[in-house]
Amino acid sequence: MMNVQKKVPASPASIYVHIPFCRYICFYCDFNKFFIENQPVDDYIEQLDREMKRVLPETAPVDTVYVGGGTPTALAMDQLRRVLRDVKKRTDSSRPLREFSVEVNPGEADRAKLDMMKEEGVTRLSIGVQTFNDSLLQKIGRGHSAAEAEETVRLARESGFDNISIDLMFGLPEQTMADWKDTITRAVQLDIDHVSAYSLKIEEKTMFYNWYRQGKIKPLPEDTEADMYEELEEALAGAGFYAYEISNFAKPGKESEHNKTYWRNEEYYGFGAGAHGYKDGVRYANLGPLPHYLKAVKAGSHPVKDTHEVSRTENIEEEMFMGLRMKEGVSAERFNRKFNCSYYDIYPQALQELTAEGLLYDSGSGLQLTEKGKLLGNEVFARFLLDEES
Ligand code: SF4
Repeated sequence: MMNVQKKVPASPASIYVHIPFCRYICFYCDFNKFFIENQPVDDYIEQLDREMKRVLPETAPVDTVYVGGGTPTALAMDQLRRVLRDVKKRTDSSRPLREFSVEVNPGEADRAKLDMMKEEGVTRLSIGVQTFNDSLLQKIGRGHSAAEAEETVRLARESGFDNISIDLMFGLPEQTMADWKDTITRAVQLDIDHVSAYSLKIEEKTMFYNWYRQGKIKPLPEDTEADMYEELEEALAGAGFYAYEISNFAKPGKESEHNKTYWRNEEYYGFGAGAHGYKDGVRYANLGPLPHYLKAVKAGSHPVKDTHEVSRTENIEEEMFMGLRMKEGVSAERFNRKFNCSYYDIYPQALQELTAEGLLYDSGSGLQLTEKGKLLGNEVFARFLLDEES
């Protein structure tokens, strides 16, 4: 196999826009974000638009947009409206977006802001709830209450949003199974369409990392985390949610089309300070610090910090790893189209063994993990690693 990534000339159909401002800084967060006070927010919005104008082809044929952060709703109403309009004016208006998502933090979007988002064409909200336990919310540094999270969901429905997702976290320090069950119960009692749930990872350069090193917080045992995941999976299945990806659960027809771009290993634009993108076979990361990002855009250059040309070998591995996270699995047709061969040509032995061991299932149109395969996910993924020269 030649070790060169084939260029895909088509313009990506998805856009990620990063708003790196927050009204509070959570103790676990390692995203590129800044406390909003005294930041050059208007200048940032201006340069963000310039970056999009410079990179996007005239009226780009875009299907999905995701405005995340940071916290988009940390922006004042007029600022957020401007970002939404700027994104829309750079896309092909004759082709309605399939999904236009915005991240919302509880307590930061009143009815007027939600109505504005609806009017501007936003189709989906992703609300950062994390937990419905007020004491845990404080312990992880969130600046809102459980009641505010419930109120934000209610207001979003009143504004007419029919696609509402909430984010939850489990494996939080001192979180008990009883806390977690209560959070799940309150989640399913809400009128929502989608849940994303991730376990806490203690990342470097966070408050949690310092406290962990000082022995002030302890992560939960892996077994407890696994039990919490199982509890979630069962409760959500009972409430009509379908696990279409390992950490994502949707009611029928409410899967995140934008996030499927990532799991299907497709390319996307990333705009804003610290945003990541993937275009023409190259993964890139924008400059994170605001002054660097602003200066680069104003100077007329691409505000890119790192680029990585994805080799064909890496691309094949990513296609397998990410595809297997989804219920739909790795598509045979997409694999053939991208790599001009079948996955059986690349992994004849691994596929035969994993199928025989009951870890993998070939539906004819694609490869999916079995229930047993899901439990042993890392073991399965390791079998898809290739030598760079292979
Ligand atoms: S988790 Fe979200 S709200 Fe909290 S600091 Fe990070 S980006 Fe900001």
